[in-house]
Amino acid sequence: MPDHKAEKETMNFLEEMIDKEIHSGKIKNESLLTRFPPEPNGYLHLGHASSICLNFGIAKRFGGKTNLRFDDTNPVTEDTEYVDSIKADIRWLGFEWANEFYASDYFETLYEFAIKLIHAGLAYVDDSTAEEIASMKGTPTESGKNSPFRNRSVEENIQLFESMRKGEFKEGEKTLRAKIDMAAPNMHLRDPLMYRIKHAHHHRTGDKWCIYPMYDFAHGQSDSIENITHSICTLEFEVHKPLYNWFIEKLNIYPSRQFEFARRNISYTVMSKRKLLQLVNEKIVDGWDDPRMPTISGVRRRGYTPESIRNFAEVAGISRRENVTDFNLLESCLREHLNKIAVRTMAVINPLKVVLLNYEEHKTEILKAENNPEATEKTYRDIAFSREIFIEQDDFMEHASEGFFRLSIGGMVRLKHAYIIKCENVVKNSDGTIKEIHCTYFPESKSGQDKSGIKVKSVIHWVNAANAVTAEVRLYDKLFTVEAPDAQNEDFKKFINPASLQIFSNAKIEPNMLNYEKDERFQFLRLGYFVEDKYSTSQKRIYNRAVTLKDDWVKEQKKQHK
Ligand code: ATP
Ligand code: MG
Repeated sequence: MPDHKAEKETMNFLEEMIDKEIHSGKIKNESLLTRFPPEPNGYLHLGHASSICLNFGIAKRFGGKTNLRFDDTNPVTEDTEYVDSIKADIRWLGFEWANEFYASDYFETLYEFAIKLIHAGLAYVDDSTAEEIASMKGTPTESGKNSPFRNRSVEENIQLFESMRKGEFKEGEKTLRAKIDMAAPNMHLRDPLMYRIKHAHHHRTGDKWCIYPMYDFAHGQSDSIENITHSICTLEFEVHKPLYNWFIEKLNIYPSRQFEFARRNISYTVMSKRKLLQLVNEKIVDGWDDPRMPTISGVRRRGYTPESIRNFAEVAGISRRENVTDFNLLESCLREHLNKIAVRTMAVINPLKVVLLNYEEHKTEILKAENNPEATEKTYRDIAFSREIFIEQDDFMEHASEGFFRLSIGGMVRLKHAYIIKCENVVKNSDGTIKEIHCTYFPESKSGQDKSGIKVKSVIHWVNAANAVTAEVRLYDKLFTVEAPDAQNEDFKKFINPASLQIFSNAKIEPNMLNYEKDERFQFLRLGYFVEDKYSTSQKRIYNRAVTLKDDWVKEQKKQHK
């Protein structure tokens, strides 16, 4: 198993830079302030988790703080449901913010900033339609054209902007634009929009506003209002940086600085709220927290731990260049943590009844099984053993084919923690299917005190029939069949894996499992790591497989390519 122990001693490139700034006296540890600025228009995903770990991690490392700021400047797509889920997810990941702010709290200040720029002759109200503005924008190689409204007087601009605020115009009728340079090589400096009219209800400000600031006129200003020292965002905002700086300089406000890193992409999934929302709305998945979703709430329901996600963020690291992180790295970080903490147990997902002909009827013996060989303090559980047990259908083959070393007629296997058994014959239903199998056991072969001298090639798991609990077990596979579902020039939903969920509703589990808290992680011997699903009840237990024990999938791929 690869060792993914995150080396906290090493620093990523942003941490190295900040370390230098601190050493040179450019900034003080206690004034270091980062922020995590989600737009409350969806649930957080694993890309956001990386950004959260980065922002909170930097503050923690250097003794600074992190704000949570909801970037709620678009009333149409935002909702309080998302605000609540975002807060729950960040806390679950193990982080606590210094302040909870909303860009909408700054609407009045931002409005004053806009007035200030109009007074300085640096902003104007434009009557051009969206199409006209687009057509005058030019191209990267050709400069744009000035709007016919660009040279309105300050007085006229102030009066029109006030009327915009009062709701005197329809949507799209007017915008406020910064007056920069229509020939600027950076297209973002060609008189960018600052405000647009939206007669929409905002989840916090209600109907107070009908003009809303654009991202570029809200984000940097919000950073500045909060005295954010390092505003860390993903690479696509690099081209916005000159504009970010331009507004701060012209407004002469606190000089927050922007830094970029590459988005986290993970193979075999999509990581965009817009696309995830489509999966939810079109009922391709069972909500934002479907265990196959790459959302934080999805992986939580699937059985991921906050530790494994934080470790993944650390091990995968951050980069200055676009890249895709291998899905297997995520799973292997999870395995590494679950191996340490999961309670070992036996469960049979596809039961086949075994009758031990030479085992006394009505006798039950209690066997000891270790709960977790990785734990520093050893604990054991009792498991019952008697004449009738369940094994996996897959562990039995009437007539063994070449290379099949588990149970078959005349063959022997060891039952984990118990005895060696030998299959004597098969009992069939009238339709030819197998009803149960009849075996004998070797009393002197008991685990831990085996004097039988019998050698077997396999050890299989089992569950005692008399006190087994019936449960539903859900096995998940990747949600998409291709490595980069959204890199193709086709609808990403075409690549949905139709076999991403398999349900076994007649699984048998040890009754011991009922004694644990709902979020306990289990290792079902040979089957993988599991957690109880949120809809699991005492009447109907449901378990989700978080991850398999080994990376079968890589092995499978290699086999296919041979
Ligand atoms: P999406 O495209 O999924 O909607 P977004 O960037 O629009 O993502 P925001 O809510 O605006 O989502 O993002 C909040 C913060 O999380 C931003 O600072 C953003 O840069 C960061 N972030 C979003 N997606 C990723 C990602 N895949 N990797 C790293 N950081 C991300
Ligand atoms: Mg966004």
